[in-house]
Amino acid sequence: MKNLPIVLVVEDDKAIVHLLTTILNANDYKVLSVGTGREAISSISSHCPDVVLLDLGLSDMDGIEIIRNVRQWSRVPIIVLSARNREKDKVEALDLGADDYVTKPFGTAELMARIRIALRHSSVDGPDTPSGKATNGALTIDYDKRRVYVNNEEIHLTQIEYKIVMLTMLHIGKVLTYDFIIRSVWGARPTVNNQILRVNMANIRRKIEANPADPQFIITETGVGYRMIDHDD
Ligand code: CA
Repeated sequence: MKNLPIVLVVEDDKAIVHLLTTILNANDYKVLSVGTGREAISSISSHCPDVVLLDLGLSDMDGIEIIRNVRQWSRVPIIVLSARNREKDKVEALDLGADDYVTKPFGTAELMARIRIALRHSSVDGPDTPSGKATNGALTIDYDKRRVYVNNEEIHLTQIEYKIVMLTMLHIGKVLTYDFIIRSVWGARPTVNNQILRVNMANIRRKIEANPADPQFIITETGVGYRMIDHDD
């Protein structure tokens, strides 16, 4: 018997549960499903799933409350799967500790990719000071020397620009909210706003992208934040 990763599907729409179960089983995941928030919380604590797919609109509890609760005691990757596509909802879910956000209707290939990324990162999430080198396509970061290379050519970044690139690389494949990036780079009580971040991002793109208007490394998630594309996926 193979040790398949367990996906907990938290969803009250039976048709979607059925669809997800079929797709996930076909992709070699073991599936557990629950239809309420109360069951979700007890299932996460008793079954320790490897990843949670979470619908926000449940009958007994808002999915946002589930994220808030679970993040107090578990780091299990949570991918929100929701029909709500307002930026405010995405930002709230991500800031509370959701790992990713997929809007319904979703493409199954994209959902499977997001699950693979979430699983990969949950197993490698380490301490905050990285060491060694990380490569993503043509982009390489040497964490020890704090240097960035594109196609083996060194890119000269300011301290702030370096921190932003490093942060997106450490969370490769995940969307990072503006607020998260600002707090991580400028500290817990930042005096800068999204506009300063956008200016820095424009400068980074001018330096690392072949075409800054069509970025291949750090893309914009409109109204939400930025994501480093994972070229290994
Ligand atoms: Ca629902």
